[in-house]
This record gives sequence, structure tokens and C-alpha cells, in this order.
Amino acid sequence: MRYDIQQLLAEGGNTLCFDFELPLVSVADLAEGVACIKGNIRNHGGYLELTADSAVEAVAVCARCGEGFPFKMSFETVRPVAKALTDNENDDYIIADEDGFVDLSEVFGEELLLELPAKLLCSEDCKGLCVKCGANLNKKACGCSTKEIDPRLEVLKALLENG
Ligand SMILES: [Zn+2]
Ligand SMILES: [Zn+2]
Repeated sequence: MRYDIQQLLAEGGNTLCFDFELPLVSVADLAEGVACIKGNIRNHGGYLELTADSAVEAVAVCARCGEGFPFKMSFETVRPVAKALTDNENDDYIIADEDGFVDLSEVFGEELLLELPAKLLCSEDCKGLCVKCGANLNKKACGCSTKEIDPRLEVLKALLENG
């Protein structure tokens, strides 16, 4: 969604409201879903500030077992907006393009990536997949022996035992 901020800049006190849905398809570990984004950009005497509330509802892919699971998250955003690069501009600023538009789909796509937990797990104690047969250990015990250790890990095990 692109929004024209020219009108907004014309007069102090002006407010531009937005309310849109951002479809999420393969964003990081989210398989599908939607982010509902609602907020406004307000002109505080020439200084533009965006405030928004975002609510994510998606199907996420578990980092351990690879299964999809329902995932919800919400977050707040408060960022300054500028028409063009200025001296006191920093990474926090949302900058309009040449035509005076800000692309909020892009802005919130990036916000979302920053807000997402580094690892999405279907549950804190997800057992993951068997390293031998690939069975989902949350669903069944596969019966593989867990005593046998990868030779590369033997070295680590020895270190741990000695330490
Ligand atoms: Zn899992
Ligand atoms: Zn197994």
C-alpha cells in the first residue's frame, strides 16, 4: 500500500489514517497468513510521526519439527517519516519516494521481520525430528536407538565429560 504524504505535509495537525491487510506468504518462517495494520501518520508542526498497531495471524513452520502451527503476534510501531533525506535522518526514518509516497507494505514487511522471534517453535518442548529416520517425535516414538552417537559428536562428548 502506497500513501501520498504531500497533502499531509501541507498543514500542521493533518493526519493520514491507514488500515490495511498485508498478506503473508513465505515471509521468514511464516507459511501463510495476514497482518492487519492500523494506524496513522500525523503532522506535528512539520514533524511527521507514524504510529501503528499490527496484528499477525499466520501459519508458522516449526524450526524443529517442520510442522505448521497457528501463530499470533502483535506489535506497535512508532517511527518518524520524512519526505526526503535530511541531515538528522537515521535508519529509523521512513522516507518517501520521489513522488511523495511512502510504501507501507514494504515498511511493515520489514517491521514484521524485526519483530518475529528468531526461532518459531510449535511448542517450547517440541521434540523435533529423529535424526536417524526423520520421524516426528511429537507424534510417535520411532524406536531408533538414541544411544549411538554421531562420531563427530563423540569428540564433543569426550570434551564435556572431561571438562
Ligand atoms: Zn515443532
Ligand atoms: Zn527414528
